[in-house]
Amino acid sequence: MDCVYCGSAVEEHDPVYVAEGAIDADPVPFCNYACLTTYVEEQGLTDDACCHWSPDGERAD
Ligand SMILES: [Zn+2]
Repeated sequence: MDCVYCGSAVEEHDPVYVAEGAIDADPVPFCNYACLTTYVEEQGLTDDACCHWSPDGERAD
C-alpha cells in the first residue's frame, strides 16, 4: 500500500495503519508516525476535536 501522506510504499518503512469509523473499514496506511502526525496537522483533523476530558470527570465545555 502507498502512504496517504507522501505516496511511498509503506512496507519499506515502519508502517502505521489508522482505522477510521467502522471497525471493518479499510485501514489508512502511513509510512510511520511522522507521516501520520504531519498529515493530521496539515488536514486540521485535530481542530476542536478534543474530547474535553478533565480530571474532575466533568466536561469542560
Ligand atoms: Zn509517508
